[in-house]
Amino acid sequence: MGKDQKQKNSKDGEERPPVVVIMGHVDHGKTTILDTIRKEKVAEGESGGITQHIGAYQVEHQGKQITFIDTPGHEAFYAMRSRGAKVADIAVLVVAADDGVMPQTKEAIKHITHAGIPMVVAITKIDKQNADPAKVKTQLLEEQIVVEEFKGKVPSVEVSAKTGQGVEELLNIINLVAEVEELTAPSGTAAKGVVVEAELNHKRGPMATVLIREGTLHVNDVIAFSSTSGRIKTLEDFLGRKITSAGPGTPALVVGMEQVARVGEKWKVVPTLEQARIFVQEEQKKYGEEREVLDFSEESKVINVVLKADVAGTLEALRELLRGIASENVSLRVLSQSVGEVMESDVKLASTAHALIVGFRTKINQSAAGFAQQMGVEVIISDVIYDVVEKVRARIAELMDEEKHEVEIGALQVLAIFRTENSRMIIGGKVSEGELKKGAKSQVFRGEESIGGGKISQLKIQDKVVEKVVEGQECGILFDGSARIQVGDTLRAYEIQGRQI
Ligand code: GDP
Repeated sequence: MGKDQKQKNSKDGEERPPVVVIMGHVDHGKTTILDTIRKEKVAEGESGGITQHIGAYQVEHQGKQITFIDTPGHEAFYAMRSRGAKVADIAVLVVAADDGVMPQTKEAIKHITHAGIPMVVAITKIDKQNADPAKVKTQLLEEQIVVEEFKGKVPSVEVSAKTGQGVEELLNIINLVAEVEELTAPSGTAAKGVVVEAELNHKRGPMATVLIREGTLHVNDVIAFSSTSGRIKTLEDFLGRKITSAGPGTPALVVGMEQVARVGEKWKVVPTLEQARIFVQEEQKKYGEEREVLDFSEESKVINVVLKADVAGTLEALRELLRGIASENVSLRVLSQSVGEVMESDVKLASTAHALIVGFRTKINQSAAGFAQQMGVEVIISDVIYDVVEKVRARIAELMDEEKHEVEIGALQVLAIFRTENSRMIIGGKVSEGELKKGAKSQVFRGEESIGGGKISQLKIQDKVVEKVVEGQECGILFDGSARIQVGDTLRAYEIQGRQI
């Protein structure tokens, strides 16, 4: 018996369907291909039943099941990867034959390679007059993707989602790759997996589409996510049919959690609700803080943002793309992220924290729009993700530019801490240089090192509110910002001075 045979046995589990993610540049046809496969492969009577999109679906091809992740493309995949969750087994890289390798194609290649999963190249829009599949294959060489035709290892197929050409072949290849991968899942273990989609349903409460990685999920199971838990009241397949259990590699809709889970979260079944709560608490401790800030570095400037989107999948997409624009000098702190229209409560939060509201595929309701204007809160909303990203990028550039015109007006030695809240503190100290003004931006230094920024929201001498304090005076300060100030720190205050023309 060879080594291979031994390895095979040691995998010790049941065969399961592959989970496939479709990735590639915007407009290259990811959605259309997913729709075409669904239409052609989900049996007639059943497809009529697809009234809900749950973020994943399953088809049968050559007697085998294939699970497709069907959320706003690869964004969910990014979100899951950033949380360390393994979600897909195979990635289909879609490249339009009339457009070739584009920036997001390259980005997708990078992510697939990092994830270490096999790739299948689908050259789409082959029906178009200016289609040039040979050129695509050559361009892919530059990205170190060598298709089989060029004696490489990556299978490729030419398809048209419009005419259906090549779709069968693509599914054949997926089955072949899955076979080589020998995908199995241990049997008899407690179920676990990841969240692909989640939303708050008006009638049914929090719902999540979960992908089962191993074990079997049952109605009445207690399920623990990183952010919430509950007992499964209802379990449905992707067609909206009630089921009593779902096995590995399958997507299922679960209802019964206390709150809306986040896309990309891992979950597992535990014996009791009490154990689920403990799990959530531990996870919160582990991830709570770090989730708040995108690419936080102590040196960098922090811009607060409130994120809104239509569904949890797009919300995660937005978050991940914003992570991409956070730079060496700028970090974005997500104060809140939620699904739905921009409401007054969002504006209120943004106003107190001087945050930017960023919305993707959502709207702002009328009263919130009026309130935002009144409070001077900036709102960026678009249905086009790149539009959102560009506007946020432009705003950041503006803020950085303002920063260049900042001059230090004074410094304070921190002598006492009176109160510490989540994002504000009341401190006392003595002005050691210049003056401090109400409303001034400030930076906290521990020795030479900056530990964060904020704003002086209120100044008091004794019990009297004042507009400014000068060198030598002692004062109390209401400091708005997330820096954890300690006695002995120095608070430096800044002012933006008029630009020269
Ligand atoms: P996505 O952004 O990658 O999801 O791209 P879409 O699936 O939304 O497709 C973008 C545009 O290309 C749409 O107008 C589609 O109708 C069109 N499209 C997608 N696939 C094909 C194809 O195979 N042939 C042709 N002619 N058009 C296609």
